[in-house]
Amino acid sequence: MREIVIATKNKHKVLEFENMLKKMDYKVLSLFDFDHLPDIEETGKTFKENALIKAKTLSKYLNKTVIADDSGLCVRALNNEPGVYSARYAGIDKDYHQNNQLLIKNIKDKTDRFARFVSSICVYYPSGDSICVEGYLEGEIIDEYRGSNGFGYDPLFYLPSLNKTLAELDMEEKNKLSHRANALKKIIKYL
Ligand code: IMP
Repeated sequence: MREIVIATKNKHKVLEFENMLKKMDYKVLSLFDFDHLPDIEETGKTFKENALIKAKTLSKYLNKTVIADDSGLCVRALNNEPGVYSARYAGIDKDYHQNNQLLIKNIKDKTDRFARFVSSICVYYPSGDSICVEGYLEGEIIDEYRGSNGFGYDPLFYLPSLNKTLAELDMEEKNKLSHRANALKKIIKYL
């Protein structure tokens, strides 16, 4: 059976990726299956660069096929910030509350609330070949929290067509429409 390593320690992402890849007859491994992995700095200027850095570094190190993603939120009225800095917008890595507070502060006086989640996914093969795709989810930023599911910017990301934020959807609903799901659907065609 073909093997693929998901380059993440985020349990939500492992589940999302596993569900999709198992259907494709892959034996799915994640970073939880390995000790002593190299530290990878996300120094790219784009989501794609960061996803490729992760997939390539780990593929070369493990000599296996690796799938990696990088994602974040781009807010139009804020010149597409926080972008690749989404995880550490307020300064501390993955402090979701501080990041959301800063987003509320910066968006408060803006009338344009359009925002887009972006997910870049790259697969890197031991042969040196690679494939990268992107998936998107569009919505609007609200300035107070709604809902308690999900993570990150979910409570501020409003979907007008559903009259709900991402944090008001359950995991199954979110996984059908998320930027990551859209990117995964695209990459599966190449696997
Ligand atoms: P990463 O791809 O895990 O590095 O994600 C970077 C950051 O983007 C996360 O820390 C979150 O702040 C934000 N982000 C990415 N995907 C989502 C999502 O589905 N919901 C909410 N925030 C997200």
